[in-house]
Amino acid sequence: MSTAVFIEGSYVVGVQLDLSPDHVRAQPDRRSGLAGLTRAALARTLVEAGAAPADKARMRAGQVWRWMHHHGATDFGAMSNIDKATRGALAERFDLARPEVVARQVSADGTRKWLVRFQPGVEAECVYIPDVGRAGALCVSSQVGCTLNCRFCHTGTQALVRNLTAAEIVAQVQIARDDLGEWPAARDERRLSNIVFMGMGEPLYNLDSVADAIEIISDNEGLAISRRRITVSTAGVVPQIAPLGERTQAMLAISLHATNDALRDELVPLNKRYPLAELMAAIRGYPGLSNARRVTFEYVMLKGVNDTPAEARALVRLLAGLPAKINLIPFNPWPGAPYECSNWGTIEAFAAILNRAGYASPIRTPRGRDILAACGQLRTESLKVRASTRRATAAMAPELQAPGSMGP
Ligand code: SAH
Repeated sequence: MSTAVFIEGSYVVGVQLDLSPDHVRAQPDRRSGLAGLTRAALARTLVEAGAAPADKARMRAGQVWRWMHHHGATDFGAMSNIDKATRGALAERFDLARPEVVARQVSADGTRKWLVRFQPGVEAECVYIPDVGRAGALCVSSQVGCTLNCRFCHTGTQALVRNLTAAEIVAQVQIARDDLGEWPAARDERRLSNIVFMGMGEPLYNLDSVADAIEIISDNEGLAISRRRITVSTAGVVPQIAPLGERTQAMLAISLHATNDALRDELVPLNKRYPLAELMAAIRGYPGLSNARRVTFEYVMLKGVNDTPAEARALVRLLAGLPAKINLIPFNPWPGAPYECSNWGTIEAFAAILNRAGYASPIRTPRGRDILAACGQLRTESLKVRASTRRATAAMAPELQAPGSMGP
């Protein structure tokens, strides 16, 4: 059921697969997705469900919100400031149980990876990486599978199953909080301080759910992770870049990987649709871009493919005048990958050219490689369900279907 664990010789120590009952919860029969509703939608839903009169809706929504997103409640019984009758009515209609965690792995370097089952056959992974951002970053998935087929990415070998809902994206953060024991915790004591949409899928093909999830995650009376600490990474879905900024005020990251169209067409096929000139123009217009809010460029180092000093200089020219930082990512191998990682010396020489040009260009230390949790290594066994099966499931449980577009 879970991902194949590819273990490199030197990383084996410390891997553990934890299937204890705490981490394996029963799949709820019905899920309301309450945790995926924005405040306004939650208030409306409570009124519709008869759990609050219209004039008390905001207050009641505020109470439920705080229990769900500040205390992490998974049960209405805990909501002590709501009367018993209302709690009972809520429990009849809605279910706050988390999706099932099918597997939990901890890397020798402290990276944690959860395989989450949202419904039978629909699974995605999320990864917590300590010491990234202010304290630690959670890398969340926005889709199960992906449509982009980037040549170097493991997720790209898995067809798109479906978009995740806002509730399913928020659930990944809740699961990490459960596991880290941070319900609630003071901002400066939290180990989970940053969110990156760099897991499975292309967030800008699921912008409605991603935007709702960010609104929820950044709410001060809830998970309270500020928008400055939330980064959305895209392979370059040009028409959605400005809307992302306008709707979420999140930080932008671009998976660049090449400085000319010929090579980028090969590595990131989406480039054929939105070539570099259009992509760069959209990035320059990203709302709120400034020296304090730089765009991050991700550049995976592929041996003999994109790693020459000439390409480093081309990168400097391409980014001229942009408030940017560059993340050099040593290629993370996966079984059957057609590339190798550049030599360390080559990566350092590449970084030195960027540094001399004034760009902060940290080389991203590979994290969690031993549990296939590093960039581009996420993949689940979920398969796209046949349309006929999906229609039958939808008829039985409409709330399980993800809204939003499914890519190009
Ligand atoms: N679709 C979005 C979100 C995924 S982010 C995007 O492309 O930005 C995942 C990041 O890891 C991207 O920068 C991706 O290019 C990078 N990546 C993918 N496969 C990788 C691999 N095998 N080694 C290192 N980085 C990889």
